[in-house]
Amino acid sequence: MKVVLENLTKKFPSRNKREKADVIAVNNFTFEIPDGKLIGLLGPSGCGKSTMLNLLCGLLTPTSGKIFFGEDDVTNLPPENRGVGLVFQNYALYPHLTVKQNITFPLENLKGAAKLSKEVMAQKALEAAKLVQIDGLMDRKPSELSGGQQQRVAIARALVKMPRILLLDEPLSNLDARLRLQTREEIRRIQRETGITTIFVTHDQEEAMSISDMIVVMKDGILQQIGKPQEVYDEPVNMFVATFLGTPPINVFDAEVKDGKLYIGKEAVLEVKGVADREVYAAIRPEGFILKEDGVFGCDLNEVEVMGRDISVVSKHKNSRNTEIRSIISSDTKIELNSSVVRFDIKPHKVFIFDKETEERIYFDVNEGDL
Ligand code: ADP
Ligand code: MG
Repeated sequence: MKVVLENLTKKFPSRNKREKADVIAVNNFTFEIPDGKLIGLLGPSGCGKSTMLNLLCGLLTPTSGKIFFGEDDVTNLPPENRGVGLVFQNYALYPHLTVKQNITFPLENLKGAAKLSKEVMAQKALEAAKLVQIDGLMDRKPSELSGGQQQRVAIARALVKMPRILLLDEPLSNLDARLRLQTREEIRRIQRETGITTIFVTHDQEEAMSISDMIVVMKDGILQQIGKPQEVYDEPVNMFVATFLGTPPINVFDAEVKDGKLYIGKEAVLEVKGVADREVYAAIRPEGFILKEDGVFGCDLNEVEVMGRDISVVSKHKNSRNTEIRSIISSDTKIELNSSVVRFDIKPHKVFIFDKETEERIYFDVNEGDL
C-alpha cells in the first residue's frame, strides 16, 4: 500500500513557560512512499520521527494536511480502522500473558463479522510466530525471553492482523550490538517476505542505510532529503545531511573558492568550475583522500590505525572543523610514518561544498584528473 502525505503538519503548544512559540514537530511534509518498500525515517532525537509515526497510525491528529493509504484518505480514521501494525522500542508486551496470548491479543478484540474462532486465531498466531522464528517459544512468558526474542514477539503481534502498513519506532534501541545487527536483518527479511510497506524509525544512520530501500532524512520537523541510501550519501543536498550520514563522519573544512579553485588554507585542492569567489564549507568523505607524496593537500599527521582491510590516517589541519581528520585508505598503500606531514590528492566526487550562511550545497562540475 502506498502512503501519501500532503502538507502534513503537527504543532504542539510549547511546554516551556518562557518560550511561548509552538513546537512544530512535523512541518509541512509532502511526499509519497511507494508500495511494498522499506523506508528508513532518519534523524536526530527530537526531530519529529515519533510524531510522524503517531500521525500515520492515528494516535495523533494532524494540525493540518492529509494522509492517504493508497487512495483512501485516512486523516480522520481512528487507529483501529487504519490497518496499521505498530512496534515500539520497549516491546510493550503483556508480562502475564504467554507469547501465544500476546500475539493473539489484537485478534481477540475483533467484533461482529470480523470475529474469529479460537482455531483460526491460533493458526494466525502460529503463522506470525513462524515468520519471526519464535514458533518454538509459544508457551513462554516474556520474562523467559531474551530482548531479541521479546522484540520478535512484538513484531509478530504487529503482523498478526496482516496490516496494510507496518510502523516500527526505534525497534532495535534496547538490544545489544550483536542482536541489533541480527534483528535488523530479520526485519529486512520479514519485510521482503510479506511485502508490507514498512516505515522504520531510527536515529542511527548506519541502521537506516543498511536495510532501507529509501531513506527520509529529517531535522527539526523539516524534511531534508529523500532517496535511496547510496544516492543520499553520494549527493547530500545540504551540510546537515552530509554530516549526519557516514562513519567515520565526513571531514568539514573552512574553505574558499577563488578563481574557480577550492582553497583549504593556502592550498588549492580542487577545481570547482562555475562557482563564484566566496567562502564556503568544504566537506570531504574519509574515502575521498588519496595518499600521495606530492599531493595537493597537506595535513599534520597524528597517527595511523590499521583496521585489517583499511588504514585510517588521523591528521589535523588548522581549517578543519572536526577535531581530527579521518581518511580511509586501502591497507595495500605504503605509508611513511616518520614524517610529521601527510599529503593527499582529493577525489572530486567525494567533495561537497556548502554555502556558509544557508549550509545548502553549491554544485560544481566534476572533472576527474584536474589539478
Ligand atoms: P523523535 O521521535 O524524533 O525523537 P518526537 O516526535 O518525539 O521526536 O518529538 C518532536 C518534537 O515534538 C520534540 O521537540 C518534542 O519535545 C515535541 N513533542 C513531542 N510530543 C509532544 C507533546 N505531546 N507535547 C508537546 N511537545 C511534544
Ligand atoms: Mg522518538
